[in-house]
Amino acid sequence: MSLAPRYALLGLLVSSCSGRDPSIPALDGPLLADVVFPLPDTPVPSNDSIALWGTLGTGRATLAVNDAKIPVERNGTFAAFVEVPPGPSPVLRFLARRGADSVVRRVVLQRGRGSAAAGAASSAPEGEPKAWQRWVTMRRVPSDTADSATQWRPIYSRWRPGGELAIPISQGVRLLSDSRTARSIRLRLAPDVHVWIPAIDADTTAVARASQLRAGVPTIRIDSTDVVVRISVPERLPTTVELSAHRLLWTIYGATWPSRPAARDGDGAMVRRIVPRDSAPGRVVVDMGLAALPLGWRTEWHDGAMHLRVRRPLPRSTSLRGLMVTLDPGHPPDGTTGPSRLMEDSATLAVAQVAAAMLRERGATVSLTRTDRRALSLEARAAISEQSPAHLFISLHLNAPGPGRPPTAVYGTQTYWMHPNGRVLARLLLTEVAQAMGHPAIGMYEGDFAVLRPAWPAAVLVEGSGIVLPNREAFLRTQAGVEAYARGIVRGIERWNAAPAARALPAIN
Ligand SMILES: [Zn+2]
Repeated sequence: MSLAPRYALLGLLVSSCSGRDPSIPALDGPLLADVVFPLPDTPVPSNDSIALWGTLGTGRATLAVNDAKIPVERNGTFAAFVEVPPGPSPVLRFLARRGADSVVRRVVLQRGRGSAAAGAASSAPEGEPKAWQRWVTMRRVPSDTADSATQWRPIYSRWRPGGELAIPISQGVRLLSDSRTARSIRLRLAPDVHVWIPAIDADTTAVARASQLRAGVPTIRIDSTDVVVRISVPERLPTTVELSAHRLLWTIYGATWPSRPAARDGDGAMVRRIVPRDSAPGRVVVDMGLAALPLGWRTEWHDGAMHLRVRRPLPRSTSLRGLMVTLDPGHPPDGTTGPSRLMEDSATLAVAQVAAAMLRERGATVSLTRTDRRALSLEARAAISEQSPAHLFISLHLNAPGPGRPPTAVYGTQTYWMHPNGRVLARLLLTEVAQAMGHPAIGMYEGDFAVLRPAWPAAVLVEGSGIVLPNREAFLRTQAGVEAYARGIVRGIERWNAAPAARALPAIN
């Protein structure tokens, strides 16, 4: 995974001390010019500069790319950032030399065409929307899915065709469409709320129903782990849950109360008060005043009712006994490959297995989303997360720079959170993983990643290190490197488990 467009300066500082890193073990194998990146036909980034990394197989070789000298590490690996020559199909010529031996490798890039084609595909005009009134049911055709998990995962609607993520809508939900383009259809969730989905994700043979369904009076169940609000409705409806500073708002679209139900008390410790509202047309809203940050939340449809399940925070503890953690070793499919071809998916699996053992030693219950190198889709990982009883979900990755960014931009650790219940964990994992790995904490970011979309359990994605950097890759090839990443994860979890901040409501959101 790549990202973080903000740390160019850091990158420059680090690049000045790269080359002949004494921590990298020396290697002197057959001379080669293995260019891991860029691949042929890679689009030239808009700043006309490109990262490159790979290996010569020997630390005794020298490397020139288009006659510019590139530092080579003791094991033959290299990572650099070069300017791309002009022209529509610029060539990077890699010349590796050891004594009288030499190997040449040419990589032809694409300027304009590649990126223009990609842009055209996503922004090609779909035409003006045409009026098209019809009831449709959310469903995914088997050919549109990567695996069985995606058969029942929600369909992610957008505010405009191909635009920003709007609201996940469960399969089976029946909605009124009021217009469409060639590839997308517009759904009416309420008189003032419209979203778009790909036309392929709708069954257009649905029969009509009333545009607003009658909702029952909310009932509340409080038990030792959850507060559950139940609202009966004749069929499953689209729903959203939003957490602001001291409130959790649950909205059900397409429902109405015959008369507004009375407010109720919550459990006191997490939910102060539960207030039904019908202030906006075409929806019912349950407004929960919070006293503490919930550990997680999710909506369910069963027994003729919509349910909002809000999970109570765990008591603070210095022991991990009773804590349930899901570790998600990132990739395959996809993933980044390091200069000497260490694969992101095998490195993250090794880290997850060591971290799982460390956590179990401390009394935690740990499950992994995968335990071998078979591919597992993002949707399947999200499904595992949402269905699991785990309190925490941590996705482990190793980073590569985004287009037009130098390899050194990923020298350090980054973490991502999406829902407020993951924010404190993201901060603690950032600090602890960076410290354990012995490199900078680049930053923590809010990010919309598929594996972070479920708000149950609290979820964080960690980019532990930049695998494209020779000395980081070499470190991750050692048991010490794997254990360092794992130890950072374990310490972050321990600090979260003991921290009052993990249960405190965010001041501003
Ligand atoms: Zn990744």
